[in-house]
Amino acid sequence: MQDDKQVAYFSMEIALEPGMPTYSGGLGVLAGDTIRAAADRGIRMVAVTLLHRKGYFHQELDDRGRQTETPADWPVEQFVKELPPRVKVSIEGRTVSLRAWKYEVEGVTGARVPVVLLDADLPENSDWDRRLTHWLYGGDTWYRLCQEIVLGIGGVRMLRALGHANLARFHMNEGHAGLLGLELLDERARGAGRNGFNHDDVEAVRRLCVFTTHTPVPAGLDQFPLDLVGRALGRADFAEHHDVFCCDGVLNMTYLALSLSHYVNGVAKKHAEVSQHLYAQYRIDAITNGVHVPTWAAPSTRALFDKHIPGWREDSFMLRYALSIPPDEVRAAHAEAKRALLERVNHETGAGMKEAVLTLGFARRAATYKRADLLFRDLDRLRAIAARTGRFQVVFAGKAHPRDEGGKELIQHVFQARDALRDHVRVAYLANYDWDLGRLLTAGADVWVNTPQPPMEASGTSGMKAAINGVPSLSVLDGWWIEGCIEGITGWALGERCDLMPAGSDRRDCDAESLYDKLEHVVLPLYYKQHGRFLDVMRHAMALNGAFFNTQRMVLQYVLKAYFE
Ligand SMILES: *Cc1c(COP(=O)(O)O)cnc(C)c1O
Repeated sequence: MQDDKQVAYFSMEIALEPGMPTYSGGLGVLAGDTIRAAADRGIRMVAVTLLHRKGYFHQELDDRGRQTETPADWPVEQFVKELPPRVKVSIEGRTVSLRAWKYEVEGVTGARVPVVLLDADLPENSDWDRRLTHWLYGGDTWYRLCQEIVLGIGGVRMLRALGHANLARFHMNEGHAGLLGLELLDERARGAGRNGFNHDDVEAVRRLCVFTTHTPVPAGLDQFPLDLVGRALGRADFAEHHDVFCCDGVLNMTYLALSLSHYVNGVAKKHAEVSQHLYAQYRIDAITNGVHVPTWAAPSTRALFDKHIPGWREDSFMLRYALSIPPDEVRAAHAEAKRALLERVNHETGAGMKEAVLTLGFARRAATYKRADLLFRDLDRLRAIAARTGRFQVVFAGKAHPRDEGGKELIQHVFQARDALRDHVRVAYLANYDWDLGRLLTAGADVWVNTPQPPMEASGTSGMKAAINGVPSLSVLDGWWIEGCIEGITGWALGERCDLMPAGSDRRDCDAESLYDKLEHVVLPLYYKQHGRFLDVMRHAMALNGAFFNTQRMVLQYVLKAYFE
């Protein structure tokens, strides 16, 4: 097999199609969109992930917003094809056999990217080991470490068994795949007949590896006590290489990936800056995330592009020409997407939302830093805005991680606000946020809202999905929105003045105040009194942001800066 220009892309989660719950959120959706764009552009890539037979989880919410989780089993054989090879990894002295399933992503011109999904559920493995590839982000630290051994070490071995002898690059999408570096080091040592790897091996492996970091906090979860790692791997020799496997008695997967990569990037300019401060001894570049346009365009948006921008599926840069689409057709396409969303909202929640009313959309993981309840800091103010300036309604969605009590409380706050605002502002919370719901929401809302605590939003991608559908954002200046916001042209910023507050102070009141001001004095008047100008903003969101914040542009930057530089 000719691998000289092929990239191996490793990710703990990948969103491959709506029926496969093998992702939890932004990281997995980005991985899927990356692969879809690589296939479109004919970039030679093979991807590796875990099978996740029981998915992330299915979310149910009771009438007070209390979340319960059930397994998201899926019919594996209907989506993926078993491959013949088996490989083995060693965990705690046991031999764990792995098989691979293949999924193929086909690009717009027919090029394919194979995705290898690793599976430990084989009769020769112990019951505990069989469950290692069942739950995405389930289980404890030990379970996670063992999963990362499967992904990193098992993944490299499986690629070799499948005939990929000479891969040009190994791309780690977040630190979960960091242990692939250990396997590459061991391969070199074994190949040279040596017992352990040396400094030259480290240099050689660095030339092969690329790392994308996704979080602006020193990777809290993804670090393991060295004695745990030693027990799992059945060896301790690697810990002697302090330059690679440092420090303080823990194996931090971010540091491991950093020290084994020749190219490292953050997922937006601001995120790269923040990461550069965190990891001062490494050089951190920026490649801003994107979304795969054909995947996230609503049916009515696709029809609009098919009519006015022939070739847009092959070339996402052509969204630039959305500026010449007649405003009335933009209005009609969006009205169709909005109808589809409100039908689902009214059917599922009985909220009685109306098409003529400005609809705010907010959907993302219910993590506390995303501050889903920021809009509800002052309910009287919201009632007054709705009465004085114009009606609006709000659609929410988002899952909290099963062990994130703060995130779960956040959902309940939204439900409490919903009940308190009844008759003034209609609020609905849709359960089980996933790919399909994400597409419906980002295309069907009139304005996409995001209120994270800066600088915690590394990039954010749902606002990009909204933009390609002509939905402007009203968001805190963080992540991608710092680059995407042209005030009053592509959407609106909020909380600019709150950036001046002393570091570490609570800026929630300040951000909320700014949100109310923009809503009352800018967004609502534009929507109800100058709708022609609102349509201009919609077209600029498509043309200026859709043409740039897409994964075709993003993978080309990876090609130029990281893969084949
Ligand atoms: C796009 C998407 C995300 C990520 O959106 P953010 O703006 O980064 O929070 C998460 N979950 C689903 C289902 C998505 O489609």
